[in-house]
Amino acid sequence: MSMISENIDRVQNDINSACISVGRDPSEVTLIAVSKTKPVEMLKAAYDHGCRNFGENKVQELTAKMPALPDDISWHMIGHLQTNKVKYIVGKVVLIHSVDSYKLAETINDQAAKAGCIQDILLEMNLAGEESKFGSADPEINRQLIRDVSGLDYVRLCGLMTVAPYVEDPEENRVYFRQLRDMIYGDMREYFPEKPLLSMGMSGDYKVAVEEGATHVRVGSSIFGERNYNI
Ligand SMILES: *Cc1c(COP(=O)(O)O)cnc(C)c1O
Repeated sequence: MSMISENIDRVQNDINSACISVGRDPSEVTLIAVSKTKPVEMLKAAYDHGCRNFGENKVQELTAKMPALPDDISWHMIGHLQTNKVKYIVGKVVLIHSVDSYKLAETINDQAAKAGCIQDILLEMNLAGEESKFGSADPEINRQLIRDVSGLDYVRLCGLMTVAPYVEDPEENRVYFRQLRDMIYGDMREYFPEKPLLSMGMSGDYKVAVEEGATHVRVGSSIFGERNYNI
């Protein structure tokens, strides 16, 4: 079996065990294979092993890979999105995870209206307040963003997303995963669907994220290996 197949099996087994340990049904969790910087051949290997959800963080890379792979793939936009690039992905990705401002949500709304579709989105929150990351750490700003975005007709607010800090011990991120879940299940519950989505957990911390209620984990290097940005 190839390295990628083995990796997918290992990650999926970890997800299943984490679910069982907290009484969740593993079918509630979608594993997104984060394929940024990786060649199409590696995505094909993951596809052949059963992966149907792929995540990319750049519009150009996403739209280049899409036509090179089978059309029963669900593509996820997980990276920072500029308003001028929204038109290239609206209606083509199942979910935009990284909506971090009202202006961006409004642009997605306008483009979806034009395309005659409703775009599913998540709002990104930067709970640890890291400089390098997008979204706000301020609960009041985040609450206002939720209220404002829920008023748009052509975007469907499905849930929340966060990119937790890079840490040695994944337990350190449990607090942020809990905060994200509490943001939905607290006094903002009415703004989210019956089954809200929580996109949280990456290679270093997806088990803890699943224990805390993640419905989508975004796993890159644990499936495809380390990324090399210098090529
Ligand atoms: C790259 C990336 C991931 C995957 O990171 P790994 O640590 O390689 O699993 C997840 N989410 C986002 C937003 C990313 O940009």
